Amino acid sequence: MIKIQNTLSGQKEEFAPRKEGRVNMFVCGPTVYDYIHIGNARTFVFFDVVAKYLRYRGYDVNYIQNITDIDNKIIERAQKAGVDPLEYAKKYSDIFREDMKALDVTSPEYKNATDHIPEVIKQVQTLLNKGNAYVIENDGIYFDLSTFPDYGKLSGRTAGMADDAVSRIDDSDKKRNRGDFALWKHPNSTPPPNGSGNPNVPIRINGEPMWWNKDLGWGRPGWHIEDTTITEKYFGPQYDIHGGGQDLIFPHHEAEVTQQCAAANIKPKDFVKYWMHVAFVVNSVKSSDYHGAGKKQKMSKSLGNFETANELIKKHPKEALRFYLLSAHYRSPLDFSEKALKQAEAGVSRISEFKHKLELAKGGKEKETKNIEKARKEFSKAMDDDFNTPQALSSVFDLIRNLNIYITRDFLDKSSIESLKVFFAEIDSVLGIVPTKQEKIPDEVLKLVETREKLREEKNWPEADKIRAQIEDLGYTIEDTVYGPLVVKK
Ligand SMILES: [Zn+2]
Repeated sequence: MIKIQNTLSGQKEEFAPRKEGRVNMFVCGPTVYDYIHIGNARTFVFFDVVAKYLRYRGYDVNYIQNITDIDNKIIERAQKAGVDPLEYAKKYSDIFREDMKALDVTSPEYKNATDHIPEVIKQVQTLLNKGNAYVIENDGIYFDLSTFPDYGKLSGRTAGMADDAVSRIDDSDKKRNRGDFALWKHPNSTPPPNGSGNPNVPIRINGEPMWWNKDLGWGRPGWHIEDTTITEKYFGPQYDIHGGGQDLIFPHHEAEVTQQCAAANIKPKDFVKYWMHVAFVVNSVKSSDYHGAGKKQKMSKSLGNFETANELIKKHPKEALRFYLLSAHYRSPLDFSEKALKQAEAGVSRISEFKHKLELAKGGKEKETKNIEKARKEFSKAMDDDFNTPQALSSVFDLIRNLNIYITRDFLDKSSIESLKVFFAEIDSVLGIVPTKQEKIPDEVLKLVETREKLREEKNWPEADKIRAQIEDLGYTIEDTVYGPLVVKK
């Protein structure tokens, strides 16, 4: 039984999708005005693993992620660069998709906000007709929070809280309530031309892409409306899992609950069944920058301490990056450091080395099923428990530790070797951490590593050191990690 920590209830709940065997899942994608940072990559790799695990468990998963390709930030950056906003967004959207491919994030289907303008218009019209939205002339159409008493159920906030965060797009001194958010933004200068009548074709008003509708007038979507528009189109007003970074709980996800529940006359618990939120990637701040050495700070573009996924992909193999991003539970902060990335590389090398031995093994007499079955069970148990990926990784390393000596000495029979290969293919279909390309480490070196391991187990340090020197002479170095010895070319 899979259990999920649900942000809406604050409880770990048993997972039962609305339709048996079928899961509709939506995750907030990037706003494409820049390269994505490592924190975004964590969210997207994690939900890729969630979708792949649910498929591994036999669910038919329909996983959609939106791409916000129309937004204030995009328009500002594009104008500074002297480029059309939609072209600017396309550039970073393409880079994002390439980055995802490079990270083996293959499960979601991407949907652009700008491909869903007629649907956005329809949802805004519904909210206007129902009296949940109002127009501010020459500004936009806003959601009236006083019409929705359930506001705040997801984030535990209320509409009137003094520190209500509203983004710039929602800023207007003519709003009825301070937390009211924009559904549709009108051009705020130069009188707009007469409508063209085609909601699919935007024109540029003061450089901003604007779409036409006879009821709404010229405008572009607010930040929150695209999500519920896209999910309603593909899933209907009710679905199973909504995910995102934890910074999106408020105001973004709260606004989604508000819009969809008001539009469809449903209660917050009847909209999305399970809300899942991923914690930040953090790094330690230097004591000179922050009062209190060792404090952890979120990595973000605005703080200028972010690492782009694109840069990291160039420096590290994708399996190591995924391993690193999955090495902490998704609800815990993940420390960013070169050391953590190196540890991840060591873990992946350990798997690669073991797999390499499986390929080389000719087959002996011992039959092995117990350890493999145990590892498979432990892997599922960990993943069932709110997708505990570090625990799932441990089950893989326990298996390697228990069987390494057997496989190194070629004791295991052919069927056991096949079962091991199947197990590694299975976990790779979910986690994507098993390298396909073998690091070519000569058998001679691998044998010496095993001998050294044995000597170390016997605490015969002087002999172990001699073997290390021999390995060094052959052009390799050996590093002892929590995942076992890591051999790398010098
Ligand atoms: Zn979103």
